[in-house]
Amino acid sequence: MADTITLNPNVAELPPYNAGMNIAVARSKTGLTDIAALASNENPYGCSPKVAAALANLDPSRYADPACAILRGALSRKLDVAENRIVIGNGSEEMIAAVCRAVLQPLSTVVTITPGFGLHEIEPRANGAKIVKIPMTKDLRFDLEAVIEALREKPSIFFISSPSNPVGPALDGAQLGRLIAAIPPETLLVYDEAYFEFCDEQTPDGLKVLADNGISYVVLRTFSKAHGLAGLRVGYAVASDERLAQAMSSAKTPFNVNAAAQLAAVAALDDEDWMRQSVASVVAERKRLTEEIQSIGLFVPDSQTNFLFIDVECDSTVAFEHFLAHGIIVKPWKEPAFASFIRVTVGLPAENDRFIHALRLLKGELPMEKAAS
Ligand SMILES: *Cc1c(COP(=O)(O)O)cnc(C)c1O
Repeated sequence: MADTITLNPNVAELPPYNAGMNIAVARSKTGLTDIAALASNENPYGCSPKVAAALANLDPSRYADPACAILRGALSRKLDVAENRIVIGNGSEEMIAAVCRAVLQPLSTVVTITPGFGLHEIEPRANGAKIVKIPMTKDLRFDLEAVIEALREKPSIFFISSPSNPVGPALDGAQLGRLIAAIPPETLLVYDEAYFEFCDEQTPDGLKVLADNGISYVVLRTFSKAHGLAGLRVGYAVASDERLAQAMSSAKTPFNVNAAAQLAAVAALDDEDWMRQSVASVVAERKRLTEEIQSIGLFVPDSQTNFLFIDVECDSTVAFEHFLAHGIIVKPWKEPAFASFIRVTVGLPAENDRFIHALRLLKGELPMEKAAS
């Protein structure tokens, strides 16, 4: 077939999204049935039992509410923000796309952080924006000085995930204060809090701190991580004002959030106890894993999330294959400066033990054994 169709080069030339390997794919590749899926930051405890109960009311034959009124109402009460500032997405990833489509024009500039979340670069580029990536410091902290310098150029959007995916730290109160003070009136701050629920108590709540500062912002949150609904796809944006929320709403497809996702999210939101308990277990395991990894002598930044970014001091792709042979899926980092890093989700205690055992084998602390088959 002749290549007669002119493609949009902004889209055709996008880098691929580096997704974690799917569990069924890993089973068929390795022949193992018992797979520890530690690549996609899902909740290892599943989701609240109230979700299954709510899904019994699902009617697949009816269109879901395009306005997600019940879910927005529940969020409005829980977060104490007006409903007309909340937009629900097919995952918060859809809200990353929507904010870009709502705000960016060809040759707009977007600033973000590296290493960072792939979609904070991919979606701006799909919309024809020029992207400026601010590296973290050598010891993998946010380089606030460099960010503030880049904001002097008045980019259209500044994307940051705090806590950082893939590294793990969150901005503290003083840092967030300095960032807010540096946001020019022309710049929209997109503050991605996908891992907010896993943070220590001292970490600022973006929704509370960003309000009433006079800057334009969008806070992103999701049901995929702490609430355990990754497979259903539901997340949300809270905008600083109704006009922004309205533009993002216009930028999404009308029936973007399916009926199952809406029912499940309302039920999950209603079971805060379940969420808090699973988060507490993950946070305790995060601490244990961090100490085990440090005891092997590897660099692992402190994390405020449900994952750890580890310098395994060898090619991340080689490490990925090693873990896969042991029935463990991790995420190899591909950016050249971080090609010796893997990102590992905190799993169930037994999965974490298995990961540590395989990590010790990789680092030659234990005699190599033949991978189980
Ligand atoms: C996981 C993640 C998201 C997207 O999650 P959804 O499943 O689309 O809600 C957004 N931002 C960051 C930083 C993430 O890690």
